[in-house]
Amino acid sequence: MLGTQGDVAENVAASRKALGGSGSAAPVWSAAEIDRVDALVIPGGESTTIGPLSELNGVLRAVQRRVESDAMPVLGICAGLVLLARSARDRVVGPGNETLGLLDVDVERNSFGRQSRSFEAAVSMPELGIREIVGAFIRAPTILRADSGVSILAKLGSKIVAVRQGPIIGVAFHPELAGAELHAGFASTIRASA
Ligand code: GLN
Repeated sequence: MLGTQGDVAENVAASRKALGGSGSAAPVWSAAEIDRVDALVIPGGESTTIGPLSELNGVLRAVQRRVESDAMPVLGICAGLVLLARSARDRVVGPGNETLGLLDVDVERNSFGRQSRSFEAAVSMPELGIREIVGAFIRAPTILRADSGVSILAKLGSKIVAVRQGPIIGVAFHPELAGAELHAGFASTIRASA
């Protein structure tokens, strides 16, 4: 769990619940710690905070290296999805920080509007064995374009809100507030790739 900023404690709790006794989950902050984990969750929060702070201590480069050399599974939630994307621009303020480019998608930040336009909605993700979960869309991004190598895991109306590309899953909503189902789906993909 990248611990830099955001919904860290809730994601640690959901990950522990999903893993049961079969693994452990803890926050990590440094590149050395990123080098030792089997998989990583980048929690929702604020990408313009998580990105620059993680850039400073080399964490982003470590994530990039682990994905490229070991196919480390990563679940990027909301701000985490923004950081993993090829490009991200804010609906109002335009282009933002550099992103990792580990997902071949272009993302629109704050796609549903400001904090006051946050909402919950049922999301279905059959490819991960999830019939329906309640996703919290909190200043959520959407995926405007996904290349052909990217599977679309969920849509809300016409908007793409969850994708997968190889070992990387990106979701626009917060799944950890409603339980551990998506974390369980992610844990199964980690086991499948181990
Ligand atoms: N709007 C935030 C961003 O662009 C993401 C919000 C969230 O993670 N809930 O980073």
